[in-house]
Amino acid sequence: TELLAKPIEKIRTQMEDLQKADASISRIRELFAIQSNIRDGHGAPLSQGPLGVEFNDVLFSYDGDQPTLDRITFTLKPGEVLGLLGRTGSGKSTLARLLLRFYDPQEGTISLSGTNIRDCKLKDLRKHVALVTQNIEIMQGTIRDNLTFYDERISDEAIIAVLDDVGLSAWFEAMPYGLDTILASGGGSLSAGEAQLLAFARVFLTKPGLVIMDEASSRLDPYTEQRMEKAVSRLLTERSCIMIAHRLATVQRADHILILEQGRVIESGRREQLAADPNSRFAHLLTTGLEEVLA
Ligand code: ADP
Repeated sequence: TELLAKPIEKIRTQMEDLQKADASISRIRELFAIQSNIRDGHGAPLSQGPLGVEFNDVLFSYDGDQPTLDRITFTLKPGEVLGLLGRTGSGKSTLARLLLRFYDPQEGTISLSGTNIRDCKLKDLRKHVALVTQNIEIMQGTIRDNLTFYDERISDEAIIAVLDDVGLSAWFEAMPYGLDTILASGGGSLSAGEAQLLAFARVFLTKPGLVIMDEASSRLDPYTEQRMEKAVSRLLTERSCIMIAHRLATVQRADHILILEQGRVIESGRREQLAADPNSRFAHLLTTGLEEVLA
């Protein structure tokens, strides 16, 4: 029994940590719901597979006075990629937050393949729409739980295959307890590149119909960059994607471009058409250097 005391104690504290993490995630969700008066929908279904996106005259303001998004209208067909461009503060992240219903617009509607997102269950909505950012939320828990969100139908083999696909196999092999290795909340031990690759792995395992990708604006080392390119290519098949893009290589993958300025759409169109139009802002961005202008 002496021999077992230590491991048992360890398991007990780990269980406690997990419960704490679970509780704090619920609290954060509650806080969001209370502060922004988000009401859960009655449970309108979302279709499987790639989702279409429709913003119809969406008006949103954080303070109820100055509009942060000023009558945004656009449509994205299922399976297409939208490149969302604009300077810092133009409203790109806010648009993403509305799609996940962290806030509701004061006017206008947002629909996914014809279903108003206010009618969906929040849980369902957030299963179908994934947000991939460099600030991936790591909860205190095993690598497995962090990747599957406790979905036991996902096999260990599938997880390991996906880690390999996104180029994290070397990182994973260094983990002392494999998929049972506990990650610290906040993911302090991960580099920005690794965190983003881990977020990609989550998406591949949980298969949402729409991915919103907030690309790392910082420069990545060439090796990470290469892994990222491959992961992005895979990300863009079989699902719709809204890319908040900071780099030219990423923008070139978009079917449709939307440029925001102070919460307004100042340009929108097919990428090739805008690129070929010498008077477009997009063409101007391409020649002056996206990285500099949108930094
Ligand atoms: P972007 O992602 O393009 O940098 P954001 O959507 O983050 O732009 O911000 C748009 C505007 O809304 C900015 O003026 C920003 O200061 C403001 N803003 C962002 N988040 C909040 C918030 N939680 N409360 C109040 N204002 C905010």
